[in-house]
Amino acid sequence: MADRKAKPQRPRRWTPMQAQGVIGRMVVPAMLLTMAAIYLEWLWLLVPAGVLWVIMLIILFLYWRCPACGKTLPKMGRVHECPGCGTKID
Ligand SMILES: [Zn+2]
Repeated sequence: MADRKAKPQRPRRWTPMQAQGVIGRMVVPAMLLTMAAIYLEWLWLLVPAGVLWVIMLIILFLYWRCPACGKTLPKMGRVHECPGCGTKID
């Protein structure tokens, strides 16, 4: 019985693909808010935009991981399996 914390036992609400879907729905309003803030010079719009970006980063950090080994997955491109352990991601 090894004592090492090899596998995080936290309950996961979202799979990586679900997290990606959530981020995919947030990224457009976040970009629009950021662009509107810059073009219209409504700098207060950067506040909700910044909150959205931070939430997306947190989701990415927490859920964009292999469900089997807990390694973070590549941030770009389509991921079908974990580069660390080969588990299918879906
Ligand atoms: Zn893995």
